[in-house]
Amino acid sequence: MIDCPHCGGNACYEQVVSEQVKTHFCFGCGFTTSTIMVEGSKPVLDALETSPELYKDLMFVDDNKQVWFPATVTLPEKGMVFLDGTSKDNWKWSAVNAVEITQEEKSKYPKNQTHKMDTRNAQMFGQKDFMDALDAIKFFDVLVAEQE
Ligand SMILES: [Zn+2]
Repeated sequence: MIDCPHCGGNACYEQVVSEQVKTHFCFGCGFTTSTIMVEGSKPVLDALETSPELYKDLMFVDDNKQVWFPATVTLPEKGMVFLDGTSKDNWKWSAVNAVEITQEEKSKYPKNQTHKMDTRNAQMFGQKDFMDALDAIKFFDVLVAEQE
């Protein structure tokens, strides 16, 4: 865990992907970056091209010129957490649980897919409650299970 330059919290998780690449994922504010996400670089330009307007507005550049974007967390059989809103000041975290696809629905989905996102029952969380949103999709159960 390192200090997060975006929110100042100390729940920022650093992961070494390869010799050149480290990712940073903050459980406090829900923002993420990596050492290849440098201002003006191709990965950042690509991200800007494909991201919703709101993500661009919320983009944050730290002292190392690393660009932070809001994270989207997807656990196919548990659920997902993503940022939802209309403007920089008006957004929330949305948590959606995965539900099993019923027998009748099976034909509408790819063969091996067992769960779908229950978007009609999305739960909303405040900007500072990213961890609660993760909790709502039982994200931390997965982490615990992995450590055992
Ligand atoms: Zn943070």
